[in-house]
Amino acid sequence: MKRFAFDIDVTGSCNLRCPSCPQGNVRDYRLDQGFMEPELLARIIRKAGSECRIAGIGLFNWAEPMLHPGLPELVRIVQNAGVSCYLSSNLNIMRNADAVMAADPFSFRISASGFTQEVYGRTHRGGDIERVKKHMVELAEAKKRNKASTRIYVYYHRYKHNLKEEPLMREFAAGLGFGFQPVWALMFPVEKVLCYADGDNNEFPLTGEDRQLIDSLALPLKKALETSRRRRERTCSLRDSQISMDFRGNVQLCCGIYHAGKFTLGNYLDMSLDEIRKLREGHSLCGRCMRHGAHVYVTYGAHELEEIAAANIDPEDAELLDLSYELAQKRLRRRLEEVYRRVFAGIITTEQKAALGSVFDRLQRIVGRLKRPRP
Ligand code: SF4
Ligand code: SF4
Repeated sequence: MKRFAFDIDVTGSCNLRCPSCPQGNVRDYRLDQGFMEPELLARIIRKAGSECRIAGIGLFNWAEPMLHPGLPELVRIVQNAGVSCYLSSNLNIMRNADAVMAADPFSFRISASGFTQEVYGRTHRGGDIERVKKHMVELAEAKKRNKASTRIYVYYHRYKHNLKEEPLMREFAAGLGFGFQPVWALMFPVEKVLCYADGDNNEFPLTGEDRQLIDSLALPLKKALETSRRRRERTCSLRDSQISMDFRGNVQLCCGIYHAGKFTLGNYLDMSLDEIRKLREGHSLCGRCMRHGAHVYVTYGAHELEEIAAANIDPEDAELLDLSYELAQKRLRRRLEEVYRRVFAGIITTEQKAALGSVFDRLQRIVGRLKRPRP
């Protein structure tokens, strides 16, 4: 059976308005509001388990899961089905921390983009970094009290203006026993990326504010798309191995698009995976997206993107973050994955591969901690 990862928005809203995200950069269209019912989630998981191998279920996409008053129950439903449950939150709101940790989700990601309010507030618009830090402390305590095994980590969105604060947040996270994963911030949704690529603003036109945001990206959109276009023959991992849906179970074309009114494929409970596959393969937006290589861009699908971002930032910041070391580690990892693909595929299981990957990550983190300059 084929493996699919599921991204399920358990609500339709977010408490922030980040400019790189459609919740913040789309003004005249909003997702429907509501909350996913536990029974519906259980039915979705039962159906998914009967037709594919579930790689994991993330209870988020364009919405903030902590806004759902029954989140702990939803997490329990996923975990009790023997499936890894992933959460991601801006952590400006903290509800039921103990109950969420008692449900023991597989991982909990905290999305951030700064350590001081001046920097964080630019790209997590409407958020308060001091509140986030307070909630991080509470989350760490709740994890301890409930003996949860959840991997909690900060997902730090890198822009040109926030790199100097990255070591501060890394250190703060480490002090709480949290992991840290920096990523080069991208422009979303796919509709806006396509509008940038070909000027066709069918769905969401680019605004002056979008252009300002694009200018602040450490990974420059123009160059990133040029590179992605050269890799456009690559398959789209979102289309081939991911299912994204809203709180009613309506399947979206993919997790990168926003306009549910235009790009809903149908209700998951009424469709087979084969029907979803056919609708996606023949979809005109996918054709347009793949012509521009936007599917490569939104999935970081070309390793050159890392190098482009590293070359685009202030050399002082690159040194502060020890980017040459980071890039060398990523190159090594890619080589190991290539060896795995050629030699071991079919001999060791995907789970064993994942276990090897996490050993590698742990080693990298230990070496990184020893090497990392103090902020
Ligand atoms: S990026 Fe996350 S926190 Fe920011 S508006 Fe979008 S969903 Fe909300
Ligand atoms: S090709 Fe583009 S629009 Fe289609 S599923 Fe992939 S990322 Fe989404």
